[in-house]
Amino acid sequence: MDLFEYQGKQFFARFGIPVSPGDTADAVDDAVAVADRIGYPVVVKAQVQVGGRGKAGGIQLADTSDEVRAHAESILGMDIKGHVVRRLWIERASDIEAEYYASFTLDRSAKRHLGMLSAKGGVDIEQVAEEDPAAIARIHIDPVAGLSEEQTRAWVAEAGLDERATDGAVDILQKLYRAYTEGDADLVEINPLILTPEGKLHALDAKVTLDGNASFRHPEWDELEGLESIDERERLAHEKGLQYVGLDGTVGVIANGAGLAMSTCDVVNQVGGQPANFLDIGGGASAEVMANALEVINTDDKVKAIFINIFGGITKGEDVANGIVTALGRVELRSPIVIRLDGTNAEEGRAILAAHESDTLISKPTMLEAARAAVELAKGA
Ligand code: GDP
Ligand code: MN
Repeated sequence: MDLFEYQGKQFFARFGIPVSPGDTADAVDDAVAVADRIGYPVVVKAQVQVGGRGKAGGIQLADTSDEVRAHAESILGMDIKGHVVRRLWIERASDIEAEYYASFTLDRSAKRHLGMLSAKGGVDIEQVAEEDPAAIARIHIDPVAGLSEEQTRAWVAEAGLDERATDGAVDILQKLYRAYTEGDADLVEINPLILTPEGKLHALDAKVTLDGNASFRHPEWDELEGLESIDERERLAHEKGLQYVGLDGTVGVIANGAGLAMSTCDVVNQVGGQPANFLDIGGGASAEVMANALEVINTDDKVKAIFINIFGGITKGEDVANGIVTALGRVELRSPIVIRLDGTNAEEGRAILAAHESDTLISKPTMLEAARAAVELAKGA
């Protein structure tokens, strides 16, 4: 679960990480009122879950109410890489002497947490990693032993920050590590972490991904989830307990198992099509689950054909086929369906589907043939 910057900053603040005072605004007048309250100069910041807002014009400094008004007008409704801005975060502007980068995430292959710290912050960290990898100081942390102050100090020294930043950085990194572990996050990133002319450090941006598997012990997260989901399809899918990720193509994809769902998207691409989504319905393929999946895909206007790719394991082919047929009776679909059914009792399943075949319900024996048929249908529509 990704947080917006302002939510990330609220999360950081709970762990004692310094952030600028500010508030959200969903309308121009509110933005001016917030700015008047916190005092000038302020920064008007687009709240979208995508990086590079600064470059896109979604972050503007303002010295007066009129400037806030003008910036709020231009940023609200702005499209930043496909994300429409519906909310602003207004905060007291900071003076910047240096911009650093700091993050914690999990390094699965090392079976350790990974901390990254760089004196080259403010810019895209992927770019730094590519052009000047030595500028990023890395530390692997044993999750049981944790991160000691001593280790943190050595790590900060390696990163080559300004001397005045040392103590502040050690303090913030220890708090950030606590936020990451105790706060049940998969990623915490501060870019930029700034040094002010007064020699103080604080978080000017916040990127936080919470670990959804830990939501059961965080009742306070319900509030975050309810706030805003940009993609209506994803909201509906989430409500129905489906693993769904919205994409931009025209071929709706339903598969059982995350690996198969990914392969299905790949095959659709391979034969010249574009998946409209990733949707994993999990192990079983009951009529209930199938109907839910079809309903979600049906809300997507861009979908011109649906590709159902099921490999029966424990669930038998005939049960899958019956599930699909029942689901089709429940949902009035706008697009034709191509089904590839394989695995346990595939023959029996295909026989059931054969009895229902039509122009809008096509069964193909292999994944590749099914993908071709679905892509052709999507293009022809
Ligand atoms: P991003 O572009 O989406 O990563 O958004 P950031 O919140 O990181 O802001 C981008 C850049 O805007 C920062 O790297 C700063 O250079 C600049 N910026 C943001 N807030 C302030 C501020 O309070 N004062 C000044 N002078 N610049 C700021
Ligand atoms: Mn940033």
